Amino acid sequence: MKISSLSILPLLFASAAFAQQPSVENSAAGELPSLLAIYKDIHSHPELSAQEERTSALIAKELRAAGCEVTEHLGKYTKPTQTGYGVVGLMKNGSGPTVLVRTDLDALPVEEETGLPYASKVVTKNDEGKDVHVMHACGHDAHMAAFIGTARTLTKMKDRWHGTIVFVGQPAEEIGTGARAMLNDGLYTRFPKPDFALGFHDNAQMETGHLGVAEGYTFANVDSVNVTVRGMGGHGAYPHKTKDPIVISAEIINALQTIASRENNPIDPVVVTVGSIHGGTKHNIIPDEVKMQLTVRSYKMDVRERLLAAIDRIAKGCALAAGLPQDRMPITEVLRDEFSPATYNNPELTKRLIDVWKKAFGADKIEKTDPTMGAEDFSEYSLPDHSIPACDFWIGAVDPAKIADSKKNGTPLPSLHSNKFAPVPEPTIRVGVIDMTSAVLELMKK
Ligand SMILES: [Zn+2]
Ligand SMILES: [Zn+2]
Repeated sequence: MKISSLSILPLLFASAAFAQQPSVENSAAGELPSLLAIYKDIHSHPELSAQEERTSALIAKELRAAGCEVTEHLGKYTKPTQTGYGVVGLMKNGSGPTVLVRTDLDALPVEEETGLPYASKVVTKNDEGKDVHVMHACGHDAHMAAFIGTARTLTKMKDRWHGTIVFVGQPAEEIGTGARAMLNDGLYTRFPKPDFALGFHDNAQMETGHLGVAEGYTFANVDSVNVTVRGMGGHGAYPHKTKDPIVISAEIINALQTIASRENNPIDPVVVTVGSIHGGTKHNIIPDEVKMQLTVRSYKMDVRERLLAAIDRIAKGCALAAGLPQDRMPITEVLRDEFSPATYNNPELTKRLIDVWKKAFGADKIEKTDPTMGAEDFSEYSLPDHSIPACDFWIGAVDPAKIADSKKNGTPLPSLHSNKFAPVPEPTIRVGVIDMTSAVLELMKK
């Protein structure tokens, strides 16, 4: 092929510019072999929530090597048996804004079936002392590799930003308690409180190389609620001598459906799911009680409070209608320690970052994603009043050929938490480094 001297000209200019200033893209590409080795190492050594001893030590070592002041073992849980394995790395570069960059550390009790050469074979004891397989089935291993790449890239580019970066290695995301445990242990008092908080998650349905983000609410408030429905048991042949908690529970479950359909403003998304119901021991015995477990989801705090009050009111109302006395009313227990607040992507910050990413990658690679009723405790970093602008974005992690196959054959792609899910490491990790680094540079530029 003949190349004219004119067509070479832009290439010469481009390489001259590159010689003057290493680009984020080149730095990420240079780090990639090492990041892939780290990724595979973490992938084959997963640890359960609140057991992240090895993983947190690795993150601490890497942050130290990238020039951060590192504090380990951060995190106070309400369960005294759980150990805080949170890591904070401060990268200081004069006065300027403070930006928090978060990765999560933990894996899941799942037996890996990806068939990858570096697949996990780890079996460990869970909180109840039971042996369980462990797998990075949510891709937090890819988050960590990209997080380390981001720290390495930003330390090389100190001439382009000023301020303090707070790198946070957060344990126990999967059980929704790690971020709160770090805040309870002084994340915002012992360390600089951020002006912005950034996080990302790999996406098991999105093409690798793409970035997705939702403006405003992106994940829901999640409450776990236990309802104990009490009755007055007896023989199944003599129902008139009993108050049957199974029939009352069935009425409660049906009546709960009217919270979403009749009590709630249709433009406020809510979910009330009864995920578990247990009562009784035998065909012909009417039991004394039935236990139900609910997941209750919303975005706005006032909607959340209304949902929780409605569940209690409906349960008691059904019990009253059945003729139960006051001392046998249902007991509704909201597990406040397990609450995950809604994740709110500050619209102004999100728009600003979308502009940066569009310039860096091209508008066709940036997807506006829909909010979901899932949960993510990254929300804790923006505080309950969302006073710290935060953005939690998706990085695509799926081979485009697999997406095309799935569309053609109608076979769903493995979701997050599936024993067959693993992000395609390249370019996911490299692009993750570029996404996060370019966001930090925008917020901290000189
Ligand atoms: Zn997960
Ligand atoms: Zn996850």
